Amino acid sequence: MAGEFELIGRHFTWPVPAGVLGVGDDCALLPVSPGHRLAVTTDLLIEGRHFFADADPESLGHKALAVNVSDLGAMGARPLGCVLGLSLPQADDIWLEKFARGFRALAEAVGCPLVGGDTTRSVNGVVISVTAMGEVPIDAALTRSAAQDGDDIWVTGTLGGAHVALQLLQGHHGEHLGLLETLRPLLERPLPPVRFGASLAGLAHAAIDISDGLLQDLGHIVKASNCAADIEYPLLPVLPALDGLDASIVQPALLSGGDVYQLCFTAAPVARSRIEALACEHSVRVTRVGRIRTGVGINVLASPLPLSSDGCAGFDHFA
Ligand SMILES: [Mg+2]
Repeated sequence: MAGEFELIGRHFTWPVPAGVLGVGDDCALLPVSPGHRLAVTTDLLIEGRHFFADADPESLGHKALAVNVSDLGAMGARPLGCVLGLSLPQADDIWLEKFARGFRALAEAVGCPLVGGDTTRSVNGVVISVTAMGEVPIDAALTRSAAQDGDDIWVTGTLGGAHVALQLLQGHHGEHLGLLETLRPLLERPLPPVRFGASLAGLAHAAIDISDGLLQDLGHIVKASNCAADIEYPLLPVLPALDGLDASIVQPALLSGGDVYQLCFTAAPVARSRIEALACEHSVRVTRVGRIRTGVGINVLASPLPLSSDGCAGFDHFA
């Protein structure tokens, strides 16, 4: 049966850029530009814990890579390549073809070629491990500890869509089920602004990708940077499809909704026009939502509902 698994390579053998040695030798070889450091991130997705057995394989292939390249962008790193480990109960040709299609489409879109990997038979369910590598100029990485007093706080894209999609899939807010078709791609096929993130290296200060919710992820920045944040709720970029929904749905989605894979970053006010020009160049929406100051924790100003009753998961953590 080993042959069956060797055949899997067929689905994952794609051209790699000049100068890269991909699948076929003992190691892949990636060139790193002079004056740069290697940025490495990895993520493990397990059936039954991170996705269901009936998840659409093409979306799964997309998301397995998206969550990794999102972390590269959040460091200000430009993608160089990725490796994929797959453990499957059986080599299902149709499942693999779809998974590979979703993975490859995003790999090509963000310039992160697959350069190696491994497959094995699993005892129980599908396990997907992706490691992505990128490069960032020395001393220009966007670390969580680099926020400074007086920095603007910026968010890319829009907020709320992935969280409401998840709630609809879990059977909540049935009266809004008509929105699912619009919102589902935000949950299942997030498009992290990786190249824009890389363009912020050396310009922005701290950055993080929003995977666990704005408050929780910005909380990592203020804690690591020993500072506080004021967020102006009315400035948050609400997904237009959520306009008109009750604040009891929208507020927790904006502040605590995860799976966003957009960036939250801080930068000096003097960098505003440069940031807006780069966002325009990369066709990325950017919004200033608040300010870093001295102190501890995150203060949300002018929220429609009191924060203690909006069901914001993890909010107590920052109180
Ligand atoms: Mg992250």
